[in-house]
Amino acid sequence: MRRHPWVLPRAVRRVEGDGDVACVRAADGRFVAWGWYDERAHTPVRLLSWDESTEPDDAWLARAVRAAVARRPATAPEEAVRLVFGEADGLPGVAADRYADTVIVQLGTKAAVDRRATIASALLDATGAERLRAVTDPVVGPRDRLERVDEWIAGSPPEGPVEFNEDDLRFAADLTAGQKTGFYLDQRTNRQVVGKAVGKGRLLDAFSYSGGFACAATDAEVICVDSAEAAGPLVERNAALNRAGRQISFTRADVFDYLRTTTERFDAIVLDPPKMARGERDVAAALRAYKDLVLHALGHLQPAGHLIVFSCAAAVGWQELSTACAWGALDARREIRSVGWLSQSPDHPVLSSFPESHYLRGIVWRAD
Ligand code: SAH
Repeated sequence: MRRHPWVLPRAVRRVEGDGDVACVRAADGRFVAWGWYDERAHTPVRLLSWDESTEPDDAWLARAVRAAVARRPATAPEEAVRLVFGEADGLPGVAADRYADTVIVQLGTKAAVDRRATIASALLDATGAERLRAVTDPVVGPRDRLERVDEWIAGSPPEGPVEFNEDDLRFAADLTAGQKTGFYLDQRTNRQVVGKAVGKGRLLDAFSYSGGFACAATDAEVICVDSAEAAGPLVERNAALNRAGRQISFTRADVFDYLRTTTERFDAIVLDPPKMARGERDVAAALRAYKDLVLHALGHLQPAGHLIVFSCAAAVGWQELSTACAWGALDARREIRSVGWLSQSPDHPVLSSFPESHYLRGIVWRAD
């Protein structure tokens, strides 16, 4: 009724007929919305259209994809941009990113998996891209028992990493086997902010993956730390694309261990861990982990240094993230003040009726 796009299992009283397009009615028979239905999914109904005369058929889907692409802010760099952001674009289970001439689509609902050809052709039409890979979401797919798809619907797999421009930076991403769709586009605007905040001096890019923050801090000397083996060569390559590689080094380690054992000191530290809470149930544990990270990071931060803490879990709110940082500062006996509040880049818009689409939060702290 308030246009939230999810109908949870306990809200479904009766299912009539079959097929994966559902006409959802209230208990009194009133029309609510059209949706995609998958009885095996964690969220069995994903609403698509609240207008009874607009049935979500293939023509609707192609229109919705084109509308999402057209909705991208003019400020988003053409070469690297999220084109479709799931429910926030009215397309549950469809995430599409463009990297130069290549589009990667991640599918997270059965209906989207089954309609991938329609989605792909609409994306290719709307962008003029040459290559398109469709892949089942690696987290949601197994949970909802989706068909495992990984295919190049257009073009053939690139040989080696694909290069693209982002603002004044240049990056390479592994589009055949990398994390997410290959690169963390949601941090684009934050890379610029962090790059400016850091200036000269020494930066620790913790949970660096391919070194996006490291490259954006163009005047800093950087140590990247990540536990993924694949991250090292990507950091090296991105460093070389942006400046002399020797100023950015990579250490493969668990960040929690690294912060406990290193003797290095930094003028700025970025903490960008993976999603720490899948839902409300995990929030308390996530906050303890943040407290721990902040406590140990502050032990290596120079006076007047910046500590930038990100959370990519929708379930962790501003207040909670900020409080966890405050606990860490108390134990570290440092005073920290927030001087910036960061969010996901504008090509990952937040739909007002779907607050879960706001998932990325970052706080820029300046320590005394
Ligand atoms: N900052 C990156 C994105 C980070 S995503 C960017 O802007 O591109 C989170 C990263 O944390 C992943 O690369 C994952 O490999 C890494 N990771 C997860 N757990 C870790 C741990 N305990 N220690 C170090 N790295 C970890």
